[in-house]
Amino acid sequence: MGPVERPVGLPVMVRVGVLGAAGRMGQTVCQAVSEDADLSLVAAVDLRPAVVDLPPAAAVGVQEVQVGRGIDELERAGAEVAVDFTEAGAALSNMLWCANHGVHGVVGTSGLSAGDIEQLSTAFAAAGANCVVAPNFAIGAVLLMRLCALAAPYMDGVEIVELHHDAKVDAPSGTALRTAELLEAAREAAGAGPWAGDPTTTTNLPGTRGGSGAGGVRIHSVRLPGLLAHQEVLFGAAGQSLTVRHDSYDRRSFMPGVLLAVKRVAELPGLSVGLEAVLGF
Ligand code: NAD
Repeated sequence: MGPVERPVGLPVMVRVGVLGAAGRMGQTVCQAVSEDADLSLVAAVDLRPAVVDLPPAAAVGVQEVQVGRGIDELERAGAEVAVDFTEAGAALSNMLWCANHGVHGVVGTSGLSAGDIEQLSTAFAAAGANCVVAPNFAIGAVLLMRLCALAAPYMDGVEIVELHHDAKVDAPSGTALRTAELLEAAREAAGAGPWAGDPTTTTNLPGTRGGSGAGGVRIHSVRLPGLLAHQEVLFGAAGQSLTVRHDSYDRRSFMPGVLLAVKRVAELPGLSVGLEAVLGF
């Protein structure tokens, strides 16, 4: 089945379905889509039944949306783009369904493995529909990664501390893993060689030095009530340090990136990883 045909002569509104609509991010996405004059919220899907309250300014003219239970809702409603904020296993099968049904995907769910990404890349390359997977839809976080890539060749060592709310089930964050990959790529491109080695010879408490990301970059995860999504990248060199930090205080920080991806995914062939492609970086 191919992408849904647009009726001729009607205003061009992208028909959007939200997967994980009863969740914290899913509800925020339903609200943001319903407030955007260029988008139409046509389906809301979750495993658990729920009603999502919409803001008074919602362009759809209703105050709430009933959450349906199966992904087939997308097909029934003629969704052109599906936004997924569920959990890793669910996101993979949801997106394979989308590829098979010609529905574009926008995925914010974290925890997808390199193998999952490979599978999605193959599925969307063959599908005639596209997909954007972004570990962080906050534009400030994407800028943090760009700034860190700029600094990487000039500093000797780096460690990443990511801090999230106490309901996050996966660690480390997708943003931290991607930051390590981008740091490594920037150093390689500049011929800067490996980072300074870890001096630790004795670890008295296992895990104290964090996990090892791309290029051996140490990643530390903090989980606490009161936090939302934060990341600090600490660079060191002889006699100096540089700290780059981004904070998301509210789930609305992710919405401009999500809405932009929804509007642009149809123009980005196959699978794109990271918001950079959407922003044209
Ligand atoms: P949440 O637990 O509040 O919501 C997840 C929802 O998905 C739940 O309501 C659950 O019932 C539903 N769900 C699970 N399997 C499903 C399926 N097969 N079909 C439909 N619905 C299903 O979690 P959350 O805080 O909203 O976060 C969701 C994901 O988004 C997490 O992986 C989180 O790390 C990620 N996240 C990403 C960004 C980003 O910018 N990329 C930002 C914040 C959160």
